[in-house]
Amino acid sequence: MSPITKIASCAALLAAVMVSGCTRTPSELVVYSARNEQLIKPMFDRYTAETGQAIRFVTDDAGPLIERLAAEGKNSPADLLITVDAGDLWHAAERGLLRPIESEKLTANIPEHLRDPSNRWFGLSVRARTIVHSTERVKPEELSTYEDLANERWRGRLCLRTSKSVYNQSLVAMMIAAHGESKTEEIVRGWVANLATEPFSNDTRLMEAIVAGQCDVGIVNTYYFGRLQRDKPDQPIRLFWAHLGEGGVHVNISGAGVTASAPRAEQAQKFLEWLSEPEAQELFAGLNLEYPANPAVSADPRVQSWGPFQASPLNVAKAGELQAAAVRLMDRAGFR
Ligand code: FE
Repeated sequence: MSPITKIASCAALLAAVMVSGCTRTPSELVVYSARNEQLIKPMFDRYTAETGQAIRFVTDDAGPLIERLAAEGKNSPADLLITVDAGDLWHAAERGLLRPIESEKLTANIPEHLRDPSNRWFGLSVRARTIVHSTERVKPEELSTYEDLANERWRGRLCLRTSKSVYNQSLVAMMIAAHGESKTEEIVRGWVANLATEPFSNDTRLMEAIVAGQCDVGIVNTYYFGRLQRDKPDQPIRLFWAHLGEGGVHVNISGAGVTASAPRAEQAQKFLEWLSEPEAQELFAGLNLEYPANPAVSADPRVQSWGPFQASPLNVAKAGELQAAAVRLMDRAGFR
């Protein structure tokens, strides 16, 4: 091919691209994600393979990502924010960093209690936080509610994760929603009095302490139990589906919202809708042994083996609304 023909054919190609794609050049979608890279990158890869939409992402804790979004303001390159806690999404929305979106697909796929009442964020997986216990020293019949772990029967037998964990902040926030502050404070004081040892930095260490005989009961997110079960089967430890007041198991979400400043809001919404569809839901939840937010989708077989449970019907937005009160309450109660 002569240089001139080559230029001509390139121009023709460019023209073809312009006609077919110039009005909607598929520019990179930018995602800020508090969900770990290994749990979210497979979703980006599959979406790119299916649609051709390129995705660039940054992972960090929700706090720094939200600060970054706020500092960048209108100039932020981010289109979508993904977090692993409803309280974090609630904060981002309260600060005006997420936009409401009208989407029949999202409202059909994601149950009402797992999304923002103003449609600024949507749960994508459900994370159940429940009781875990030694099978050697505790019978399931002895267990009932989170509140009951404050009973003095559990003196010196309880292990907890630190109150700095947003998971515990959200749990206590939901307890405030169910019982009010003074009763919740009494319960948290009871927990603190029952502690076998200093609170742990993560749920896995807590379960290892139960296995090692340091304590008998604790509260964890079920996917950590799933990981332990997968890595070390047959440990003398089991999950128990706790009740929260009159309601069921405390659930949180990993979820997402389109940013207020999104340069590619329409593409971001399409991706979010895709994430709520059955095929993506199975992968999203399955990657971390969580529960799909879309009720039409079954959980991973290992997750199903833990049996069905009734989730608390309270809207997860409450976790955000009451999170500051929960942090103050835990501090007053001496929960470190
Ligand atoms: Fe986690």
